[in-house]
Amino acid sequence: MKKLPIPVQNDDRHLIRLTSNDALTSINPCLRINQNSIKMQYRNYIQERGNAWNIIPNVVSEELKKSLINSYENRQEDELKFIKNMRDTHDEICSMCGGKFPWSLDHVLPKSDYPEWAIFSKNLVPACRCNIRRGTALKGNPITRARVLHPYFDDAFETRQISCLISTNNDFRWVKVEIVYLQPNHPEINSIKYHVENIVKRSGIEKYLSRTLWCKLVNQPGLAIRGLFEKGSLTELKIKELIEQDLRWNDSSSGTLNNWDSIFLYGILNSPNVLAFITQHHNKFVRNGGVPT
Ligand SMILES: [Zn+2]
Repeated sequence: MKKLPIPVQNDDRHLIRLTSNDALTSINPCLRINQNSIKMQYRNYIQERGNAWNIIPNVVSEELKKSLINSYENRQEDELKFIKNMRDTHDEICSMCGGKFPWSLDHVLPKSDYPEWAIFSKNLVPACRCNIRRGTALKGNPITRARVLHPYFDDAFETRQISCLISTNNDFRWVKVEIVYLQPNHPEINSIKYHVENIVKRSGIEKYLSRTLWCKLVNQPGLAIRGLFEKGSLTELKIKELIEQDLRWNDSSSGTLNNWDSIFLYGILNSPNVLAFITQHHNKFVRNGGVPT
């Protein structure tokens, strides 16, 4: 979950160049005829800020749908090189789920249901495998108008929206992590929840926090929290300060407060029993010369 600047691509120009390329006889006739209506829909998308409840798609023929989706999937043409560039110049953090390795592009309005925007740069966002796990999820309850949020147009991702509640057993070997919402009165809370349920959770955030990050914390606390490795025995207050520093580092280096590592650290800072465990565990670890206990 990361707010991104709107791409500066000239989509009308890309479309005109694509439809003017006589070498692409298999796709051009259909695209050429519908060029103006597609350009109108590009404006509609920007005007409605990619909000799936407000955008009214045109009825698109099967032939045009096929042309647009083929154009996106093949994207061999120079006119669509910008799509490859968008995919190649990816960020560290997935704009849709907040996980890592956003090595593909996701259509915010899925191309199978909204083909008019299949090659529209403002509908393409860098994403990880959550793209596949999400499927075509887009709109939730029509009464609340819940929907998938848009990394280019929605501002909700600019503030910290989610944290985690960590439950453990007595020896802290077992852990359960649940996502919690930090701003229950946010005007977009229904969409935030819909987005988290359908994209972030399906992408495996709870497994990553409760297995990958928690195991690292238990087995190598010095590697799980930045700065802890070089230190000897510490008070709980000092460990809390180090976690706060690490949180600030993660927030800033990832460019979003809603990246998965920050969500974990923020959850620890708000779990007194976990903080006490980390202190005790780290100090025991130091006494034992770095051997897991
Ligand atoms: Zn993702």
